[in-house]
Amino acid sequence: MPKSKLVILNYHQLGEDFDPKIHNEFIWNTTELFEKHMSYLRQNFTIVSLTEGLKALKNKTINETMVSITFDDGDASMTSLAMPILERLQVPATFFINTAYGEEKMGYWYNLGPYFQNNELLEASTAIRNTVDSNEYHNLLKLEDAVNVENNPRPSPFYANYKDFETCTNPLFHFGLHGHEHLRFSMLTREAQKENLRKNIETMKHWPNYVPHFAIPFGKPQDWNTDTLEIAKELDVVPFLAHHGYNTQYKDPFLRFSVDTKNLKSVFQSFSPFQGSYYKLNKLNF
Ligand SMILES: [Zn+2]
Repeated sequence: MPKSKLVILNYHQLGEDFDPKIHNEFIWNTTELFEKHMSYLRQNFTIVSLTEGLKALKNKTINETMVSITFDDGDASMTSLAMPILERLQVPATFFINTAYGEEKMGYWYNLGPYFQNNELLEASTAIRNTVDSNEYHNLLKLEDAVNVENNPRPSPFYANYKDFETCTNPLFHFGLHGHEHLRFSMLTREAQKENLRKNIETMKHWPNYVPHFAIPFGKPQDWNTDTLEIAKELDVVPFLAHHGYNTQYKDPFLRFSVDTKNLKSVFQSFSPFQGSYYKLNKLNF
């Protein structure tokens, strides 16, 4: 295990208690466990912002395990729960945001289905997530569009108030790109991918704490293709995946570990930079 590396951890939702209407068991952590992670990481590693971590890799000045914290999707718990903890512990973090939600649309299939107990959308969710047929994908997304048109409460119950991100000047918090809409880029034409990312950049580039980092939506191997990486280069943003691994050199796309409750154990087993400390971390709540 190389000593010099950047480990990027990826979180999504926090909550005191699990609420099946707005939480997803695969991307949810208790507030208490998250705070224990942060305290533990702070005591044992150097936590840096993603920008600092990339700079250390680029300049080859990294000589230890650096850890960066990221959050995807802009969930409501970001401002109400995550940021206060991070601020109290003085831990920097980067938030990857989809700009279509909150104002323009209330959400996407992933949260709309359970929230409305919409069986059609719940049944479609596996295929939306996994199909390799882009016609099928776009047909199924019509269900999402219908729910978005039918139910248009503002603000959306799922997302933080983006004004809080847009106006944030706290140096601990940075805001990066996660696509305008949270779509599987592999299912889009090259032009549609570029348009999606361009809209995301246009909306965020004036935010004081914007960083040109792009967490590809979903970020697993079936969710992006070579067009995605080429477009990121053309638009001058740095791509990140949600594909487990650590980074030892400045070479994109950069890898991230999803540190969510359901896969925490496997993450920390494979994430052996923690070595024996995985067990310590694991003991915190298991
Ligand atoms: Zn996401």
